Amino acid sequence: MNFHIITIFPKSFESYLSESILARAIKNKKIKIKFYNPRDFAKNRRVDYKPYGGGPGMVMKAEPVIKAVQKALGRKKKLARRGGGVKIIFLSPSGKRFDNALARKFSNNYKDIIIICGNYEGVDARVRKIFRAEEISIGDYILTGGALPAMVLVDVVSRQVKGVLGKEESLEENRVSSSEVYTRPEIIKYKNKNYKVPKVLLSGHHKKIEEWKRNK
Ligand code: SAM
Repeated sequence: MNFHIITIFPKSFESYLSESILARAIKNKKIKIKFYNPRDFAKNRRVDYKPYGGGPGMVMKAEPVIKAVQKALGRKKKLARRGGGVKIIFLSPSGKRFDNALARKFSNNYKDIIIICGNYEGVDARVRKIFRAEEISIGDYILTGGALPAMVLVDVVSRQVKGVLGKEESLEENRVSSSEVYTRPEIIKYKNKNYKVPKVLLSGHHKKIEEWKRNK
């Protein structure tokens, strides 16, 4: 799976992508992440301007973003040879809500995903129209920019890519798992109170343990 990220802040991705499961997936060539900075396609590296219709904040100009997307699409011949489609995503708080089912769909249907990250008041809407990009939101809140939503997307879609998760991290959707988890020690004392691991988890009774996890 290849992710092509259009962002004016590529450095903000570095620490997350250089640790843990995603770093391993990149090293093992299960996923590839490439950045395209609209500033590299802008006159004097200036990418924003005042909004039409007034209002506070600046809007990211269309042309540098279009050129960055075109650069990502420029590799299309290569992409087509690999046999997968290209998906273009326009991150926006008013887009379709991202979830696991959508992540599965993206990973099953596309080999290349182009993610357009907005900043300031967002990207000129004509970029979305020109590329018929799908507007995607990661939740009903407004972040300061598209870097975190893009990382959420890359993380969740990558988990669906074969070979990204090791056996010990296998997909939650394919097994019974609970968000209430415990490890050693069996008892933790805090302010004179004992906090114990639920007995069933110590029982070795697999059926009962699965049932408990399912209930949780
Ligand atoms: N003025 C825009 C609005 O009211 O919809 C918000 C712009 S926001 C400050 C800047 C950028 O962050 C957006 O263009 C988008 O790329 C990204 N962003 C913010 N919240 C998001 C969310 N919940 N889901 C996806 N992207 C988001």
